[in-house]
Amino acid sequence: MTVRTGRCHCEKVKYQMTGEPIAVSNCYCRTCRKVTGGPYFSIAMMLTTQFKLTEGSPSSYKTSAPGMRYFCGNCGANTHDTFELNGTSMTVVTLATLDDGHGLKPSYSMMVKYKPEWLEITDGLPQFEEFPPM
Ligand SMILES: [Zn+2]
Ligand SMILES: [Zn+2]
Repeated sequence: MTVRTGRCHCEKVKYQMTGEPIAVSNCYCRTCRKVTGGPYFSIAMMLTTQFKLTEGSPSSYKTSAPGMRYFCGNCGANTHDTFELNGTSMTVVTLATLDDGHGLKPSYSMMVKYKPEWLEITDGLPQFEEFPPM
């Protein structure tokens, strides 16, 4: 089983993910844009059972009814999110915090109706106005 590791910028928070993610995508939603300060967020979604914190204890806050966002309280890097999908706990890690060589890349873009007006998406990936059909 593939094990990938990740860490925040200051390396106080470290995690690992086991197995392949369910989806890897770029998200243009308002929350993702606000928390990164960037035009979109590249993320990998998996079952929470595939995810494990291995070092440090990230800070967190509630982003929506079932969602929590976790970030390093020292350097501010967003490491992961958790939320419920049809009663199952899911975890999303930010691709940027995975260690180099992880080999994952987004296969679609979602929430593109919220993209910044100035941004032209030219990556050729399939686009969904909101969530893709699951
Ligand atoms: Zn940190
Ligand atoms: Zn988003």
